[in-house]
Order: sequence, then structure tokens, then C-alpha cells
Amino acid sequence: MAINIEAMRAKLTASKTGNKGQSNSTKWRPTQGDQTIRILPTADGDPFKEFHFHYNVGKNPGIMCPKRNHGEECPICDFASKLWKQGVDGDDATLKTEAKKLFVRKRYYSPILVRGKETEGVKVWSYGKTAYETLLGYVLDPDYGDVTDPETGTDIVLNYDIPGTPGSFPKTTLKPRRRPSILCDEAVGNCDELLESIPEIGDLFDRKTTEEVQALLDDFLSSETSSEKRSSETTKYSTKNASGIDEQFDKFMNNE
Ligand SMILES: [Zn+2]
Repeated sequence: MAINIEAMRAKLTASKTGNKGQSNSTKWRPTQGDQTIRILPTADGDPFKEFHFHYNVGKNPGIMCPKRNHGEECPICDFASKLWKQGVDGDDATLKTEAKKLFVRKRYYSPILVRGKETEGVKVWSYGKTAYETLLGYVLDPDYGDVTDPETGTDIVLNYDIPGTPGSFPKTTLKPRRRPSILCDEAVGNCDELLESIPEIGDLFDRKTTEEVQALLDDFLSSETSSEKRSSETTKYSTKNASGIDEQFDKFMNNE
């Protein structure tokens, strides 16, 4: 029996990216240029969801912050504050930069329908603070109101501009259509079914316990590669007390 090469390729990709197949197809990213989306209403009345992540922890994708998302202890938050404090006390820009990279970041998520691709079903769009505030602004603007309403809501044109210059971020510009429109016509299909198929956005992410986050942080700190800057700092910040965080901090600085 021959091996199914396509299936193997898919498995390899899934393994490399660490993505679950399902969430992969649900998460949506805009492409360069204009696209029209419709934000979908959620049962709880809040279609603009906020989640908190830590990035830059080794090769891990965003790690859900146990503290900001679920009110539990977060070793990364603790470590980052500690690092920041050391940076401030020692007037050390490098430490402050390292700390900032680990600070918790907010991302926003909404269920959407992509116009022209309605048959692909409900997608989840992830966006930043500027887009979030723009969207809230539209909702609170009597000229637009509830842009998610299936009968009287408004499609939104999303322009995504990926700059050619390295180090700069893609820019998202939102502009509501001039006229409201219904969410579903016959071509789009059954509106009730569509609305029922909206996923629980929190389920798209791996919720990690405090212990799991601690393990990821420990891994990261012990595998941190050496850099000249850091090894030169090592002597300056020698170990002073023996709390868990200080030990990790020293490991981080000494690249043990
Ligand atoms: Zn955290």
C-alpha cells in the first residue's frame, strides 16, 4: 500500500506549525488590498473579543496569559516585571527592551463573513487596538450603529497594506459601506444556521495552566542563545537572592 504523499505533507505542515487543522481554517487573515467583511453578532452581544498573549517566548506561538485571561498566576508576567524593574533600577536599556518583548499583548477577535467567500463559512479575524477602537467608534456612531445587525448592519471594507520596508507593520484601514445591507440573501444561504455556526472564539486557543506556562518559560530561558550584550551584563547582575524568579533570571542572564 503506497503512502499518501499529500496526507504526509499536510501532517508535516501541521506538525511544524503546531496548528490544529480546524482552527487553521477558521482563523482569517486579510490579504494585500481591499476586501469586504461583515462582522457577525454573537449570542452574548459582544462581537469584539479581547484576549491577552505573550509573544517572543522562544519559538512558541502566542501564549495565552493565565493572569489576564483567567485570573491565575502568570510566570511570564512576573518574570517580565522583574526584568523591567532590574532594567529601571540599573538604568539598563537592554534589560528594559527584553522585558518589553515579554509584556502581555492584547489582541482582538471577531467572527466575520468574508464577502464573495461566504461559502467558506464563518471566519475569525484577529486585529489590533487601532482597528478595535475604530470598530467601537462605528458602533457608537448613530450614523452606523450596530454594524453586526443581520437586517440593518453594515459591511466593512478592509484595506490591508503590507509595507515593503522591513521592520514596519501591515496597516489595516476600515471603512463602512455607505449603505446598510442584510447579512444573508439567498445566495449566502441560511442565516440562522450561519449564526449558529459561530465558534466560541476562546476555544480557538490553547488554554495553558500556570505550570505549563512556567515550563515554557523555563525552556525558553534555558535555551536562550548567548549574545555579547547579555554575557557582558552577566557580571553586573549577579545572583543576590534565591527566589525562583531570581534563579530563572540568572539562568537567563548566564545562558545556562
Ligand atoms: Zn501573563
